[in-house]
Amino acid sequence: MKIAEVSSEIIPYAKTGGLADVVGTLPLYLEKAGHEVSMFIPLYKSVKKSGIDIKLLDITFDIPIGDIDHTVTLWKSIHHGSENITIYFIQHDEYYDRDALYGTEFGDYQDNSARFILFSRSVIEAIRRLGLSIDIIHCHDWQTALIPVYLKTLFADNQKLSSIKTVLTIHNLAYQGLFPQEEMRLTGLDMSLFNWKNLEHWGQVNFLKGGIVFADILTTVSKRYAEEIMTVEFGCGLEDVIIKYKSKLSGIINGVDYTEWSPENDNLISHQYSVEDISGKALNKKHLQKKLNLPQTEAPLLGMISRLVEQKGVDLLIAIIENLMKRELQLVILGIGNEKYHQILQEVVPKYNSKLSVNIMFDNKLAHEIEAGADIFLMPSKYEPCGLNQMYSLKYGTIPVVRETGGLADTIIDANDENLKNRTATGFTMKGYFAAELLFTIDRALELYKSKALWNALRENAMRQDWSWEKSATKYVELFRSVLGEE
Ligand code: ADP
Repeated sequence: MKIAEVSSEIIPYAKTGGLADVVGTLPLYLEKAGHEVSMFIPLYKSVKKSGIDIKLLDITFDIPIGDIDHTVTLWKSIHHGSENITIYFIQHDEYYDRDALYGTEFGDYQDNSARFILFSRSVIEAIRRLGLSIDIIHCHDWQTALIPVYLKTLFADNQKLSSIKTVLTIHNLAYQGLFPQEEMRLTGLDMSLFNWKNLEHWGQVNFLKGGIVFADILTTVSKRYAEEIMTVEFGCGLEDVIIKYKSKLSGIINGVDYTEWSPENDNLISHQYSVEDISGKALNKKHLQKKLNLPQTEAPLLGMISRLVEQKGVDLLIAIIENLMKRELQLVILGIGNEKYHQILQEVVPKYNSKLSVNIMFDNKLAHEIEAGADIFLMPSKYEPCGLNQMYSLKYGTIPVVRETGGLADTIIDANDENLKNRTATGFTMKGYFAAELLFTIDRALELYKSKALWNALRENAMRQDWSWEKSATKYVELFRSVLGEE
């Protein structure tokens, strides 16, 4: 099959979260399985700064945004880690040559609708100009959700383009690309689509909704999240639309890139280790403690790496942090997000600086060092479409404490007596979203940590879990085949 992967973030070019990991890695497995893949991403400042060798193509075209034509230039490179995947960069410096992908600490960029309308339309135009014959366009999240809409409306008369099948993967339903009604005009779509059955959502234009309505296939990133988004609690207002189109929805868990995230070949950690020889893990703990100016004690070390936003359960952690500090443990937090959380967390540190390390930053190396050095990983998310960190934690033998939602529910098996006995347990789970329940669940983990034999058995089982991309990529291939009628 000929597949185009289109995303607003892709590792190693641009990343704010798990989306980038997924779209950077899935294509490598599609290529391994014998498919011809191409990729598209905006030419951000981060791409230019990365030093990646990109080549200017002799292709320039104009895309209208409302009444104004914007000139776009194409660049290309071979995708990092691939044999032969061409990644195309859409250049329009006015929109993409900025310090961040979507906004600053003060909020989203005001022209995000225009920025991603331009990206979506440019991808279609690039495919046309490059003469690529594509079977499937795989879109990700609201930033590319208009592509299925364009193909079935503006390009309905173009036999080659309109016959391309579209798959839209929802990585997080909370981000929908919701803009004021006036911005519908910028899309270039017929205003008749601004109705509640298509792109309108309670008086606003909703890009993701458009994608949900028009894509041939919808996926999301875990089976549990696919069920959850049909409920009021998780549907973010789109539950009725999802229910309407549920026959085209399925859940495929994200895989882990074990070339990046395995303690036995991780160059970012101080001591490599494996399930066969775990001795290096204790050395990583010492290294992490030293690096973060924590005493090198034997006390259990808890880690949390997360965007500091409500979704990730930061409120729960803050509610119990004083209580947690009364226990014999250390806690390392790495994250960046809402200013209010930065402030609250930083205010607590001086009281407990021998037990608590708060690192408000994005630091990939430190993320690896925490996975390797911590004993327990906290991920008490309110909702979690898939989550990658809990799967990384399994491989690093850093036992996850998670809330039973979305991908967390699909990947972590609670260490209750029965599961410990039959050796299926991999972590600790809680059902409700309550601070007391988080504390109770952490206490369960701390209690088991005291029995070395039980803890080691749990850790070994966690490290043996396999959430590699092979399985998930195979599921995508099956789905792509089904939409092409090749079952
Ligand atoms: P989400 O995509 O919702 O942010 P995931 O768990 O799916 O959550 O993916 C988060 C990814 O981003 C992981 O690779 C994680 O290690 C990384 N990450 C998140 N915050 C930071 C940070 N402050 N520093 C380094 N890496 C981070």
